[in-house]
Amino acid sequence: PALGDLVLEVKDIRKQFGGLIAVKDIGFSIQAGQIVGLIGPNGAGKSTTFNLITGVLGLTSGVVKFRGQTISGLSSREIAQRGMSRTFQHVKMIPEMTVLENVALGAQLRGKKGAISSMLRLDRAEEQSLLREAARQLQRIGMGHVMHELAGNLAMGPQRLLEIARALCSDPALLLLDEPAAGLRHKEKQALAAVLRQLRSEGMSILLVEHDMDLVMDVTDHIVVMEFGTLLMQGTPEEVQQSPKVRAAYLGV
Ligand code: ADP
Ligand code: MG
Repeated sequence: PALGDLVLEVKDIRKQFGGLIAVKDIGFSIQAGQIVGLIGPNGAGKSTTFNLITGVLGLTSGVVKFRGQTISGLSSREIAQRGMSRTFQHVKMIPEMTVLENVALGAQLRGKKGAISSMLRLDRAEEQSLLREAARQLQRIGMGHVMHELAGNLAMGPQRLLEIARALCSDPALLLLDEPAAGLRHKEKQALAAVLRQLRSEGMSILLVEHDMDLVMDVTDHIVVMEFGTLLMQGTPEEVQQSPKVRAAYLGV
């Protein structure tokens, strides 16, 4: 997508669980090369919104458009195949395998049915191309020097980067990150922020669901604030930081 193009359009999306409206008519959009933050207190509806966009949950009403096409109703696999890639909050890796192998394996398992059997059916050429792509993505985010180390030896920060490298292997147009800074030390958060800024400078679009306010204020271009399933406000980091509504709801001040 060209810079400034709308990569994601979320229009009046709603999710009802029985009597509870977990997401109530939320709308926002993401342009190519933009990092958008999604924040809000616990229970605000962030994860539900994330799951509605990625197709893990079906919409009660509303529309999600990705690269100009309606994706509402598609399965999460179909949406992934169209170029939307996500990370998981809890990184799943095989500690006895190298970082490189873990990235290649994770990339292979994404968006595929019968993952194990399809992996066993990989021929040598496919395996090599997968490993090359994994190495390329690790180098891209500054993890090239640890790619032959055992994944089990990685600290939390590099583990999160490993998960991002996996998500990048499919060459996505939009990356959705689910609390990538959770549990990270200050230095690791700074390293993560540097990677996100670098990806943006390469034209990547990112939706960042995150609790860590400093990171969100630091790296995003636009912030969407949710509360009790509704859109409390959206705007630039400066606008959000100065909003009395947000300070009351989110920061409790
Ligand atoms: P957040 O990620 O912002 O903490 P969630 O999207 O997880 O918020 O949850 C929003 C609301 O929806 C909460 O009240 C939660 O209990 C409820 N909720 C989330 N998932 C389900 C579900 N599968 N069934 C019923 N209620 C749910
Ligand atoms: Mg959540």
